[in-house]
Amino acid sequence: MITTKNLIKTYKNGDVFTEVLKGIDFEAKAGEFIAITGRSGAGKSTLLYQISLLDEPTSGEVRIEEKDVFKLKLRERISYRLNCFGYVFQDYALLPDLTATENVVLPLLMQEKSSKEAYALAQDTLKMLGLDHRFDSLPSNLSGGEQQRVSVARAIAHKPRILFADEPTANLDNEASMVIMDIFKKLNKEGQTIIMITHEEQYAKVAERIVTVDDGKIVATKNT
Ligand code: ADP
Repeated sequence: MITTKNLIKTYKNGDVFTEVLKGIDFEAKAGEFIAITGRSGAGKSTLLYQISLLDEPTSGEVRIEEKDVFKLKLRERISYRLNCFGYVFQDYALLPDLTATENVVLPLLMQEKSSKEAYALAQDTLKMLGLDHRFDSLPSNLSGGEQQRVSVARAIAHKPRILFADEPTANLDNEASMVIMDIFKKLNKEGQTIIMITHEEQYAKVAERIVTVDDGKIVATKNT
């Protein structure tokens, strides 16, 4: 589903070049649940950004569903991000003036679903994640764990082919983190492909495969 060969990402700030990914060979198959782990600054987020079309790699080969990402037009990238992928971030990234339902509805409307369909889908998904009593709450009135569940609902309501999560438990206590991990486990059992970054081993172990990144390279891969 995703393969990279000798993936390099170099950032350029003025005259300074920083090679952050130093030749990554990575593969994710449909239906897999992969945890990308490693110490802070290892290059985990940078890797996730390249394979989820949030950034453009410098060189190497990157294929997403057989498509060469270097050949994607801007319109195709945007369409992929909106229609085929779902994203969860550590800070939830919810719009503060919109209710839980509206936060989930917004991308569905951008996918040109009817308002009726978008609201029904959003509320069904929130319900599935145990948030039926929170439909009309603003993010500021929700706990961190609830906000993250809203952001998961937003990421999966359109049934993305791949769910990407960047440290989804970083701001949550252990109990709320386990709720999110249980949701991911259940989604994966139902066939959802998930690629998740975490630096915490106890959450990495929830995945089927753990890929460890250090200093811009993959240094270990193991099945759990
Ligand atoms: P991780 O997710 O493993 O903590 P990151 O992928 O966020 O690591 O960052 C890896 C390295 O790349 C860090 O040293 C970081 O400072 C550097 N880095 C990230 N983004 C940029 C950028 N835009 N410009 C320069 N260096 C960057």
